[in-house]
Amino acid sequence: MVTAQENDPQNLVDEKRRLGGAIAGRFRDLKGLVIADLIERDALGLSLSGSTAVGESSISVTSGASHLSETRGSDAEKVAAVGDWLRRATTNEVLETEPFGNDISGNHYTSTYVTGAYETGIRHADRSARAAGYDVPDEEAAAVAGAGNHANRIESHNRRVVDDLRGVTTATATQATRQFSDEFSSGNRSRYQLADEINDRVDKIGITRGRTLARVGLARAHHDGSMERFGELGIELVTGRAEHVRFTTAGDSGVCAQCRFLEGNVYTLEEARGMIPQHPGCRCVFLPANPPS
Ligand SMILES: [Zn+2]
Repeated sequence: MVTAQENDPQNLVDEKRRLGGAIAGRFRDLKGLVIADLIERDALGLSLSGSTAVGESSISVTSGASHLSETRGSDAEKVAAVGDWLRRATTNEVLETEPFGNDISGNHYTSTYVTGAYETGIRHADRSARAAGYDVPDEEAAAVAGAGNHANRIESHNRRVVDDLRGVTTATATQATRQFSDEFSSGNRSRYQLADEINDRVDKIGITRGRTLARVGLARAHHDGSMERFGELGIELVTGRAEHVRFTTAGDSGVCAQCRFLEGNVYTLEEARGMIPQHPGCRCVFLPANPPS
């Protein structure tokens, strides 16, 4: 029998899913925009299915910062318009760094999840240190996070997740533009197929990598929060506690195969920093390995 705690030592499964869902939902909005602008509004004057161009669409859409501008020029101009549109739309609809600019300062929609995961890491450290016999002050994780070096670390995790998300939105816009360009250049003028090609890239790159980013970013913040807290509590050595997985066929369980080596190995705090996550789905943690002096 695998308990919830053994199955998810980080206690972050729900939060990872929520952040992944927040990112995926924004990419889904982007897909809706692709359908609205390329199919319904037909901003490029494409055909319904074959290669014959149709006239102006009668559907009008209120103009917004993320919309594809009406383009009736050359093929090259249409490809350029799509590239510009996808860059703007991924930035506005998914990355959402405006109006914060480069100074996101914890205001980004991902930040509450990242800060929360870091604080969950602090709680993990406090709980496991108490269990190992350390005298841990009875303090809320949020209060702990507000002192010492924690604020700087949280800030850097928040920045890193936004940077990672920027990487995902940039890759999505680039790949979707390339996909559109390849299809369009080879003579495909079907608005349905072209929208499909773009949205396939949004699924395979944007949503897939966005969900991975959520799991990695939160596991990383959790791990760092726990390591920083271990240091404050005077813990010098830690040992891995690998996630227990259930083998569906046998009905019994074992530790995650990729992280098995962590189990029972002893590391200094410095060595252990950056060791989690080992892989995108990693749910492992470290525990204190030396008794209180
Ligand atoms: Zn792991």
